[in-house]
Amino acid sequence: MTRRAVVVGAGVLGACTALELLDRGWSVDVVDRGDPGTPSRADTRILRFSHGADEWLTRSAVAGIRGWHDLERRSGAGFIETRGVLVLAGDRAPGDWERDSVAQVRRCGVPVRELDPAATARRFPYLDPRGLAFAVWEPTAGVIRAGEALRALHELLAGHGGKVHRAGCRPGPDDTVLVDGTPLGADAVIWAVGAQAGQLFPGRVRIRAAHQDSYRLAGDPAADTRPAWLDVGAELYGIPGAPGRTTKVVLDVEATTAPAPGLLPSRLDEYLHRRFPDLDHTVRDQERCTYAATDDDVPVLGRLPGTGTHWLIGGDGGIAFKHAPAWAGILADALDGRRAPPRRLAVDRPSPKGPA
Ligand SMILES: Cc1cc2nc3c(=O)[nH]c(=O)nc-3n(C[C@H](O)[C@H](O)[C@H](O)COP(=O)(O)OP(=O)(O)OC[C@H]3O[C@@H](n4cnc5c(N)ncnc54)[C@H](O)[C@@H]3O)c2cc1C
Repeated sequence: MTRRAVVVGAGVLGACTALELLDRGWSVDVVDRGDPGTPSRADTRILRFSHGADEWLTRSAVAGIRGWHDLERRSGAGFIETRGVLVLAGDRAPGDWERDSVAQVRRCGVPVRELDPAATARRFPYLDPRGLAFAVWEPTAGVIRAGEALRALHELLAGHGGKVHRAGCRPGPDDTVLVDGTPLGADAVIWAVGAQAGQLFPGRVRIRAAHQDSYRLAGDPAADTRPAWLDVGAELYGIPGAPGRTTKVVLDVEATTAPAPGLLPSRLDEYLHRRFPDLDHTVRDQERCTYAATDDDVPVLGRLPGTGTHWLIGGDGGIAFKHAPAWAGILADALDGRRAPPRRLAVDRPSPKGPA
């Protein structure tokens, strides 16, 4: 008998999960209330392999990025820019995270190179290597045009009978989901509601909304060939522009105060001035984006305690886009009874802050 799933949330995690289940023969209803400005609809996201010493996340990134390439081929839409990712180790805490990343990525058989400052400057002459300890070069990583990729996913879903319905959902009694107030039962209900999860399941799910500010810059002279970059020690990253798209730079910290209109935070301004001297970093536009944070920075993927059929996927701390096809596979495997998801992702794992 065909099993039936309701997927709540048509962002990247919900859409990937829905497609994976449809591919495995499930009948799937996707329901989304259409929140504006959700992170899955952003213009670009970085597809990087580096995840420090975390073997599970590195393998997940490899599987996820591979999954995106498969989805790109399958959809016929071009949304991946394989322009490489450069991890700069230098400014504040050079070393361990980046070296651990190289070891893990190499172990997965993915091309990765450690470049000394001189080699970095030769390969990327627009970059000033002063203060740089070394760089990690991931030539097969890159950028995904997220909004386009999500549209392509929705088209694939529609082509397989997985139309997205517009409605708001809440948990209902007896393992049901209330869709615009009407209770609906299913063999599995998957909540992929991003930063809203904590509000929908107060006291049961430790996911909260956190914010990050990104800035669009005036120009980038060689925009269409440069790689995306990140400097983990300095807590910064950037996605170069392309025809029709301005360069984006982000202070990779949780935003707590409102940004000053038209101004880069001084830390970001100084860094760009020093590291990318030819970059016109006049601010054209700025944007606040919300992501789903957990108190231990580990994503959530597992059954909701106290329910028989409800599952949660999310709480990714702003890294999920690249992982989405891989996490969808893990969740579908759990629903098919093939393998349990890793315990470290469980909804009810212990909090590092102790009991609430
Ligand atoms: C600034 C920033 C930069 C990032 N950079 C990267 C990056 O470089 N690389 C990377 O891989 N990832 C990155 N991410 C992470 C990535 O964009 C997100 O993790 C991912 O898009 C989250 O997808 P989601 O499906 O969990 O949630 P969302 O995109 O939030 O989707 C949730 C959906 O659920 C719907 N919904 C919510 N509540 C309800 C309800 N009650 N009923 C019905 N529908 C509901 C909403 O309308 C929405 O469509 C970044 C995130 C941010 C914020």
